[in-house]
Amino acid sequence: MPQFDYPCPDCRATSSLHDAGCEFEGRAWPEIERAYTDIVAELTAGPTEERALYDAVDGEWGALHRAALERLQRDERVTERNDVLRLRTSEEFREQVSEPTRDPMRTIYRQGSVPGCHDNAVFAMIAWYEMVGLSWAETRENVVEWLHDSGAWTRGGFEESTPGELVDTKRHVYESGYGWKEKADAAKRVITRHRG
Ligand SMILES: [Zn+2]
Repeated sequence: MPQFDYPCPDCRATSSLHDAGCEFEGRAWPEIERAYTDIVAELTAGPTEERALYDAVDGEWGALHRAALERLQRDERVTERNDVLRLRTSEEFREQVSEPTRDPMRTIYRQGSVPGCHDNAVFAMIAWYEMVGLSWAETRENVVEWLHDSGAWTRGGFEESTPGELVDTKRHVYESGYGWKEKADAAKRVITRHRG
């Protein structure tokens, strides 16, 4: 099955297998990718007012463009300040996303994993860094650091004897490019319950 560079703006699928109920199920991929590249091409030229971006796009600014822009913002690729949109440089992006700022990743990142969701939390962290574009070595380093700093490792409940060993057993997650969202949602639910 062909894989695509940009995720579906609604369900984040990167193949034609959309989630059930996805708004863009059945839309042609070239059309979806076009919405992204229209926006990225315009913002690559420089920061742009949101209104001006709508006008700059060839044809009509529709649901697909709107969803693609929202996705780029949610994934921290594009920032907005006083209605001016800006594309992050790749260095800035990598730096920024090493600390997830939106839920469910934010909760996992800040609170750390708890017994009962280690599998899902570690899976989500690895898949997140893969999505962001970090190499395996960088991903491994970040996840190991997170296991220590968030207190997750100290809470126990792991079969492996070191965080590095644990992360290594999940390398397939990185290599397969699985999505992070479902696992992250599941982990967040457990972490939130644990705290409450
Ligand atoms: Zn979709």
